[in-house]
Amino acid sequence: MVSAFASAALSQSEIQKRLDRLLSDIHAATQQQIGYPVNQDFDYSALLPFLDYSINNVGDPFYPSNFWGNTHEIEREVIATFASLMHIPSEEAWGYVTSGGTEGNMYGLYLARELFPNAMFYFSEETHYSVLKNVRVLNARHIMIRRQDNGEIDYDDLEAMIRVNRDVPAVIMANVGTTMRGAVDDIARIRDILRDQAVTSHYIHADAALSGMILPFVDDPQPYGFDAGIDSVSISGHKLIGAPLPCGVVLTKRPYVERVGRAIEYVGVEDTTLSGSRNALAPLMIWHAFAQHGYEGFRNIVAGMLDTAEYAVGQFNERGIAAWRHKNSVTVVFPRPRREVFRKWQMAPEGEIAHIITMPHVTRGMIDELVADCAG
Ligand SMILES: *Cc1c(COP(=O)(O)O)cnc(C)c1O
Repeated sequence: MVSAFASAALSQSEIQKRLDRLLSDIHAATQQQIGYPVNQDFDYSALLPFLDYSINNVGDPFYPSNFWGNTHEIEREVIATFASLMHIPSEEAWGYVTSGGTEGNMYGLYLARELFPNAMFYFSEETHYSVLKNVRVLNARHIMIRRQDNGEIDYDDLEAMIRVNRDVPAVIMANVGTTMRGAVDDIARIRDILRDQAVTSHYIHADAALSGMILPFVDDPQPYGFDAGIDSVSISGHKLIGAPLPCGVVLTKRPYVERVGRAIEYVGVEDTTLSGSRNALAPLMIWHAFAQHGYEGFRNIVAGMLDTAEYAVGQFNERGIAAWRHKNSVTVVFPRPRREVFRKWQMAPEGEIAHIITMPHVTRGMIDELVADCAG
């Protein structure tokens, strides 16, 4: 490997050649992508002039910053938009634009741990890999709960585990659209279990990385928001919304953050975010996407994705392949195909299954070709 620093500066044409090659590799790599939940259908060219400035959203977006080159005002608008999508009055909500779903999950679990330091943390084995890492970083006591075949948490196992730990607060990581199967845990049922076991100190964090941008736009969503009883939620920005860089949003209730803020008063009450310096372009991109599409635009995008998912299930089933999906899910699950097939399509396998995610750039033509590959 040759490092650019090994010698004198590269010539302009050498740099260009290198960049051209990389760009063409990336272009090729994104063409056949059908297995990951990233929307590639976006245009942020209006934001290019912002690349000329070193902007930074360091600190709490709701406090004045000493670093004036920021997009905090835009970020607050983004948080207000998500407050409305997640059914919490914006004056009661607090949040910020994160580096992605993992940081949002980390933040929710961090708040829960600050509120209930001796809590037991519960999450299903279907949960995204970031959560196990997060509870380890937090040094939180945790129990992994079994999942059902469809990817939902096993409520009986959850109840049994909560029963034996009734003496400590419960923190539940609920999935609102699992990575592999698109499953949504039943938040009302989880709350029933907590009530039946008389666990009054509890906290529910929702991991809504993908479905947090689907359920607000369908007619009959599974309960997912603050009205359903969640305490915080993490949503990815680069997945359904689409962005050229990873980002996300975390949302919670303002009083929780004020308590954490007090706890860390020594370093300044406004240091409420996990990261210090924060990406100021990401809020601008999310804002731009909402400004461009509006609520109706996202409704149409989501409806189109769900149609494609339904089409895919139908095509698979017609060929005798047992594909399925959850209600309101764009994740189509089917038996793991031959090696060459999932290498060609950049799909994510897990044990005996594989899935595709019908993002806007996934066409019926691609699905026909994939189904033929799987059947062949
Ligand atoms: C993608 C995903 C995450 C992690 O998001 P990153 O943005 O990659 O950090 C967390 N949970 C679920 C369910 C996901 O699908």
